[in-house]
Amino acid sequence: MGDEFGEVLTRTARIAADWLGSLDQRPVGETATLAELRGRLGGPLPDGPADPVTVVEELVQAAEPGLVAIPSGRYFGFVIGGGLPAAVAADWLTTVWDQNAGLYACGPAASVAEEVAGEWLRELFGLPGGSSFAFVPGCQTAHLTCLAAARHHVLRRAGWNVEEQGLAGAPPMRIVVSARRHATIDRALRLLGFGTATLTVVPADDRGRMDVAALREVLRDGPPAVVCAQAGEVNTGAFDDLAAIADVTGPAGAWLHVDGAFGLWVLASPELRHLAAGAERADSWAFDAHKWLNVPYDSGVAFCAHPEPHRAAVSVTADYLVQGGAGEPRDAIDWTPGFSRRARGFPVYAALRQLGRQGVAELVERCCAHARAFAAGLAAVPGCELLGEVVINQVLFRFGDDATTERVLRRVVDSGEAWLSGTVAGGRRAIRLSVCNWRTGDEDVRRTLAAFQKSAAAES
Ligand SMILES: *Cc1c(COP(=O)(O)O)cnc(C)c1O
Repeated sequence: MGDEFGEVLTRTARIAADWLGSLDQRPVGETATLAELRGRLGGPLPDGPADPVTVVEELVQAAEPGLVAIPSGRYFGFVIGGGLPAAVAADWLTTVWDQNAGLYACGPAASVAEEVAGEWLRELFGLPGGSSFAFVPGCQTAHLTCLAAARHHVLRRAGWNVEEQGLAGAPPMRIVVSARRHATIDRALRLLGFGTATLTVVPADDRGRMDVAALREVLRDGPPAVVCAQAGEVNTGAFDDLAAIADVTGPAGAWLHVDGAFGLWVLASPELRHLAAGAERADSWAFDAHKWLNVPYDSGVAFCAHPEPHRAAVSVTADYLVQGGAGEPRDAIDWTPGFSRRARGFPVYAALRQLGRQGVAELVERCCAHARAFAAGLAAVPGCELLGEVVINQVLFRFGDDATTERVLRRVVDSGEAWLSGTVAGGRRAIRLSVCNWRTGDEDVRRTLAAFQKSAAAES
């Protein structure tokens, strides 16, 4: 057999590097419409084969105008990071090596890379020694994993084995959430059999922080509970007072889960970690590597202070599998809801290795500094109203009424200079700007502020 891969991979590496190199010049948003993309990519399923290099080149041709430059330093939509060079490269190799990282037997190095990266993350975040973890597709799946462990633990203490007996007829348990929880909490709970109408909702303040006094009242009596708190509200970046919440959940014997999709990364920064003080007292944590660590999509992480319920809730066995059993070596299928799976540990490992402890802290701090620079710059743009202080990397603002806000935003996005999107804050339209990308620099901030200046000026 010859070198079937040499040409296509070399050509692809060139295309990839050229695209990444074009980010400062190309528009951030897509330039093709839905109909155009269907036209470019569509057509009948070909009858015969095609040369791989041709396939790749035609795919690139067809897809290019429909790509959003998410790795650009001027992409500020949702909460989305870019990809660090070492992480992007390790992600390619993850594909090339094609390990099925469910079992050690199908990828020993993948299993050990996850073991090492998990321990590095645990240490970086200051989570309890002996915590178990899982590399999963995202924070959504991390919630599912952690809350399955919580469900097991709470019901087990009540003498009920939920994995065997299911939920019908189970002892009562309560799921306590904040009014400003992320939508993925609800979906994880739904999938675990806790209908949204059965949740106990604790009010939150206008920044999205859980009312701890109300939580205390809720937990004063009643059946055992799982409490979902948050580190980094998706619009404001605000943190629940995790120490005060742990003071309440601890004595109540409730399981405390923290949604820290992006916010929990402050734990890596000596300057910012006070925002999530008390996080280490929780029972489980869910966060993302594809947001602030700048690992390519998709990559989330679940941590659990109690390995037994974690494993009991999600592990699986079958006669034909080759498993370590007692935890040695580590088989990811015992810790993730997935079975066959991508070796997600490699890019996380590479990102942590590229940055080091200091590099992660600097990345998080730099993004927050850019967010503050945005707030200062936007305050000087005529008609711009900032909505609350910048806590970490999220900036929330509007321009007068809803229609004006939408027009100002639309013009900036249409200009191709930056990409960001809207939300609702206090019942009115607002613009949300999230800085999570390692590439974002002062020039990106300047260009984006200039785009808002210009767009706002078009209103007068
Ligand atoms: C992004 C986000 C999630 C969901 O994470 P995915 O990785 O997209 O599954 C959950 N909670 C918060 C606060 C988020 O910002």
